[in-house]
Amino acid sequence: MTKQKQVSTVLYMPSLTSHIRKSEAGRKYRGEAEARFLLSQLNEGRTIDRDSLRQIILALQELGDCRPITRQRVLSGDPSQVEEMRKIEAVNKFLRQYEARPRLRLPSPRGAPIRLEWRSTPKSNTDATRVRRDANLELKAVLIAVELAQQGRIASVKKCAYPNCKRWLFARFKHQRFCSEACYELFHRTDPQEKKRRSDWAKGNYQSRKELELGSRKAAQRKGGKR
Ligand SMILES: [Zn+2]
Repeated sequence: MTKQKQVSTVLYMPSLTSHIRKSEAGRKYRGEAEARFLLSQLNEGRTIDRDSLRQIILALQELGDCRPITRQRVLSGDPSQVEEMRKIEAVNKFLRQYEARPRLRLPSPRGAPIRLEWRSTPKSNTDATRVRRDANLELKAVLIAVELAQQGRIASVKKCAYPNCKRWLFARFKHQRFCSEACYELFHRTDPQEKKRRSDWAKGNYQSRKELELGSRKAAQRKGGKR
């Protein structure tokens, strides 16, 4: 009897989670606000070189967590440090295509301090197809990607897992893979592997329910027999 009661408590959980979700609406997730501009460029930035932005993001993700450089690691030729240096150089290779100078701007109306921006130099925009404004947008997005990597949040910037959707998202949680509820639904409806997984689960569920029913019927019979 006590067991049954516990089960019913668990069944009440969904209402509890929906309550949590409501209060999460106003919650801030580290890196999410910074990532907004980066995502807008990844998803809608038609004028920038999105391929290079994507490559930089992937190279930063590849970098992962790097350990501090120490004298001991240098002297011992620590192979993991050699690998980290190789990965960081891979990012630098991409960053070398940008040339910029610092520029101060007055605070934004939201009360932030004086702003420091990096503006691309006219020299780096000699390519006739590249307008300076676009070069600045791209550079701003790249610098945000670097900032997210510094915060340990670059892994949250990912491509939607629904193959027909080309959008990028900022995952609030590690397991978040879709840009929207709609893509989540579409993926689970159409993905053959997922379809199989669900039908297997349904089959297994049916089987175990049957076994349970059978078991309890047998137990009831045994109980009845004892009396
Ligand atoms: Zn999507």
